[in-house]
Amino acid sequence: MSLESLVRATLGIKDHRVVRVTGGVGGLRVELDTARRRRLPCGSCGRRYRVRDRLPERAWRHVPLWGVRVLLMYRPARVKCRDCGIREEAIPWGSGKSPLSEPLVVVLATWSRLLAWDVVGRLFGVSWSTVRVAVERAVAYGQAQRRDDELSHLGIDEISRRKGHIYHTQVYDLARKRLVWSGPDRDGDSLRRFFTWLGPERCARIQGICCDMWAPYVDVIREMCPNAVLVFDKFHIVSHLLKAVNDVRKAEARELSKIHPELLKGTRYIWLKNHGNLTSRQEVRLSILEKLNLKTNRAYLLKELFSMLWNCDSRKKAETFFTWWFWQATHSRLEPMRRFAWMVRRHLDGVLAWFDVPIDNGAVEAMNNNAKAISHRARGYRTAKTFILAMMHGMGKLPLPQTVHTFS
Ligand SMILES: [Zn+2]
Repeated sequence: MSLESLVRATLGIKDHRVVRVTGGVGGLRVELDTARRRRLPCGSCGRRYRVRDRLPERAWRHVPLWGVRVLLMYRPARVKCRDCGIREEAIPWGSGKSPLSEPLVVVLATWSRLLAWDVVGRLFGVSWSTVRVAVERAVAYGQAQRRDDELSHLGIDEISRRKGHIYHTQVYDLARKRLVWSGPDRDGDSLRRFFTWLGPERCARIQGICCDMWAPYVDVIREMCPNAVLVFDKFHIVSHLLKAVNDVRKAEARELSKIHPELLKGTRYIWLKNHGNLTSRQEVRLSILEKLNLKTNRAYLLKELFSMLWNCDSRKKAETFFTWWFWQATHSRLEPMRRFAWMVRRHLDGVLAWFDVPIDNGAVEAMNNNAKAISHRARGYRTAKTFILAMMHGMGKLPLPQTVHTFS
């Protein structure tokens, strides 16, 4: 197979021909021209016309061959379309003014879902910013292909970048386990931007929304999506509960530090883990501690009891259970537990809504961890725009542009 026919095959061109390939291991230059006497498609409507004139030569970066840079060189033709006027032809290997060939965009974008962007750049001999351009192009294509009409259950969460100094609001499609939208800040306004982007028609079709018991989000959801059932995420609720138990332990460890400094040392995870996940050594330690009537132990028992809430087989029973648990917690003389109990009670309607619409953000956590693993390895996610791009590309499950080659 000659280089010319190899290029022709990977580009899948019919209206164009490879004139010659020049250069060597430093870089290949592929000269393209129109196939003789071909009518070419108008760039706006696709109807075919005779070539009217030609534009100056342009270059496109193409997929490297054996690590050798490949440039496609071509003078785009113009046609005189009956409906659109004088238009540039629709170039099959490129898109708009992008200096990258479509197959290169797909290759770079595909690998960027698996590897850090600078690694992808090194692998294909392009700069980090070229990889970014490819991802930007792929995300724009994917978003244009999909209208998100089928959204029914959303999960809303925040994610941090720059070691927790800056936060973003992320909206997930819980049914399809993918990211729908990402925006800077974690206040009501950032979520409002999402609902505005979604538009009133699609907002009205949302049946359930899951998030933390965090007031700025809650007000905006009620205002913009009045039809949706608001469900407070059980994973967030449990993490508030674990924090309360840990606060009790820390306070008690301080109280006991004079008399029994060793007693609560290293017990943090014994109290926070699910009982079933304890090692046998931790279990022995716990059974000793349980006999001492510690405050931490009382908080621990309240925590273990609370998780039974979601085992109730109806909303009514769960409400009865919570009333009983609330009394226990508020009479425990443990301030963090009392505060947690009141927080749940203030949000009880949304907590119990889980029995009507059983959604949670469990899948979101897994997706976030995956995204963080990719973004931590890469430099350059310093700007909000690039971060959002990386999140949408990594978790949006967006379709990639079709090319002759599939690089799966
Ligand atoms: Zn046209």
